[in-house]
Amino acid sequence: MSGIIDTHAHLDDPKFREDFEDVRARALQAGVTRVISAGGDITSSRHAVMLADRYPEIYAAVGVHPHEAAAVTPRALEGLRILAGGGKVVAWGEIGLDYHYDFSSRDIQRDVLRKQLEIAAELNLPVIIHDRQAHQDVLSILKDFPGLAGVVIHCFSGDLKIAEECLHRGYYLGVGGTLTFPKNSGLRDIVQRVPLERLLLETDCPYLAPQPRRGKRNEPSFLTAVLEEISRLKDLPHQEIAETTTANAEKIFRFPTSDF
Ligand SMILES: [Zn+2]
Ligand SMILES: [Zn+2]
Repeated sequence: MSGIIDTHAHLDDPKFREDFEDVRARALQAGVTRVISAGGDITSSRHAVMLADRYPEIYAAVGVHPHEAAAVTPRALEGLRILAGGGKVVAWGEIGLDYHYDFSSRDIQRDVLRKQLEIAAELNLPVIIHDRQAHQDVLSILKDFPGLAGVVIHCFSGDLKIAEECLHRGYYLGVGGTLTFPKNSGLRDIVQRVPLERLLLETDCPYLAPQPRRGKRNEPSFLTAVLEEISRLKDLPHQEIAETTTANAEKIFRFPTSDF
């Protein structure tokens, strides 16, 4: 089977500190040949870039998560801009709005999102968007940035109408462990209808482990459970899901393919 790509992981998480080499080995064994480690603040972004510099299969995204928006300074954004110049930084993210937790005030979240979209547009980097219970505001802000190099709505949680608007605009939808949760038939229905050419595989590890490991630590090797579920829903062979989603990720993130 062609290698699959975990387009959204948090490999800097302390939960991976003890057995990082084992986690990497299991991922490669499972056919997960590339992983994008996403930052959420300056420290984790720096950590993601360090991992990408050290390990051939790891790439990085840098950005400020909406949870951390209240703490961001102009200097931190400048620091991220410099980090983003590294050769293995393939996206700006994760950034977005989280109206579920509201850890930062919504005004600040929106302001920090706009500032980062401006930088990503200048740097010609695709963006990885976190959208939790904020679909309308995310879509309306993104509309003001038509020149972005690409948009991924990671861990997609909108309804069919939101999905259609995203597709219409050329966005990609990131799908992970939540697809396997028993109560998530809404997402399964959307995945059945969305063209495979617009889906990306992700774990968001260490969070959101797929069934039956739900609640435990997630890791890139569990990405195969997401692939299997998409294969079942679309009634297409594993191989086709792997090849197409990998081609999608290569298209938006523009990895150097010659390495693999
Ligand atoms: Zn997220
Ligand atoms: Zn994440």
